[in-house]
Amino acid sequence: MAQRFSRRSGSFSRVALAALALSLVAGCGFSTPSNGGMRTGTEAELTARLSDGQKDAAVIVSTSGPAQIGKLAEAGMDIWGVDGKRVIGSITQRQYQTIKRLKLEVTYLPGKSGLDNSFDPGYHSNAEMIDALKALASRYPNLARLEDFGDSWEKKQGGKGNDLWVLKIGKGDTSAKPGVIYLGLHHARELVTPEMVLNLAKHLLEGYGTDAEATHYVENREIWLVPMVNPDGHALAEQGSDWRKNTNSSYTNLQPGHGPSGPGVDLNRNYGYKWGGPGADTNPKGATFRGAEGFSEPETAAVRDLVRQRKWSFLMTYHSFSNLILWPWGHTNVAPPDNRLPAIGKKLGEFSGYDPKQSVSLYPTSGDTTDWAFGELGILSYTTEIGTWGDGFDPPYSKVPQFWNENRPGSLYMLKLADNPSAVFGPELKTVKVQNGQFNASASGALTDVEFFVGKPGKEGTGTRLNASGLNASGMLPPSVMTEKQLLLVHARGANGQWGPFEAVWSR
Ligand SMILES: [Zn+2]
Repeated sequence: MAQRFSRRSGSFSRVALAALALSLVAGCGFSTPSNGGMRTGTEAELTARLSDGQKDAAVIVSTSGPAQIGKLAEAGMDIWGVDGKRVIGSITQRQYQTIKRLKLEVTYLPGKSGLDNSFDPGYHSNAEMIDALKALASRYPNLARLEDFGDSWEKKQGGKGNDLWVLKIGKGDTSAKPGVIYLGLHHARELVTPEMVLNLAKHLLEGYGTDAEATHYVENREIWLVPMVNPDGHALAEQGSDWRKNTNSSYTNLQPGHGPSGPGVDLNRNYGYKWGGPGADTNPKGATFRGAEGFSEPETAAVRDLVRQRKWSFLMTYHSFSNLILWPWGHTNVAPPDNRLPAIGKKLGEFSGYDPKQSVSLYPTSGDTTDWAFGELGILSYTTEIGTWGDGFDPPYSKVPQFWNENRPGSLYMLKLADNPSAVFGPELKTVKVQNGQFNASASGALTDVEFFVGKPGKEGTGTRLNASGLNASGMLPPSVMTEKQLLLVHARGANGQWGPFEAVWSR
């Protein structure tokens, strides 16, 4: 069991953050001194705090929009969250100069040198996460295997360091099956993100054989799960640090302990597609420091090599916070050349309740995971930012079930569409039910055709037909299907001629 500390101070607590989020939603200012414990300071106090060049300060900055927010990121501001044109985060003297140069309104949140994290013992430490993954692999040897796919920066230095782990789920020869890869914890302090990846692994493996949908995915998909891309940073987060980057100290003479403005490379600015563009810092002390070149860091290079091992339909990378679903591009305002990206992104937004948008409309970023995965490999790639401003980076572990409820439908939806992402444009069957051989389902739009396959999906139009009538699908299953419990894959075609995604249901 890892030893854990909390260095959260009371002056900028979760309660205060929640009050802050509420006041932002309401569009209130911060002049009232008694808004849930939140206190705002004067500009003179802010200037005084930053004057020694060592301290950072929590602030809210009002901008004219994404371009200016991108400038703050390039200046290395530690951006915690974005709400329209307003940004909350911490700044140093260097970033304060940028704010003054841009003539932006800044509100100082005093008594706080950064968003100190607590580490609720419910969260998995590095060691506990490896134990959990090993336990799954040994409990389900025919369905899952655990592999070490690389070394962290500290391990590359010959120090203690960490291995990078991937849990691979899929039954039998999965080499040609549609694949989805899930990543967590590029940023060390984003504690809920490894838990989402681990929960998905458990959901699929524990549901195998009983849950028809989970069984379908384990049998007919290849699913790779990387809960922690940045275990070196996580080791610091376990000590209560609000660490963001990896711990590569070769670019500065600083040691960890200087918060997000210390050493390290922002792993989500270090991918090699359009690396070095907007929204990433060139200064090693910046929270968004991009590194020496694309894939200069062992963690991103290992993810690159892992992802390149096979073909993928989807990539999902979990971050926190701001309740957002983001898709490429981040480095340019140009829309991505694939209309499935926004269409599926909006579905992910419906499932989670999060706001779906093209990444750049938040603010420009370059060198991120999804721009690379889509730009170089054509993978439909998404970033999910989990949690509200009130949740911050370190919500109590008791909130993880809520986050999982929000994110489970979307994570499963990518598996559903993995054999045919264009099925997003077809009708989706709801309330699918088989009772005594009678099949019934409904859809939100008119159906022209309904068909099913046994065990695994087949070529569209070649399955066993059921009846389509208006919004409903129905029919008696043939006796051969009902003699034993079998997996049925059912889908329907809509008036636009497009087949929708397969739903999995047991024949009895
Ligand atoms: Zn992040």
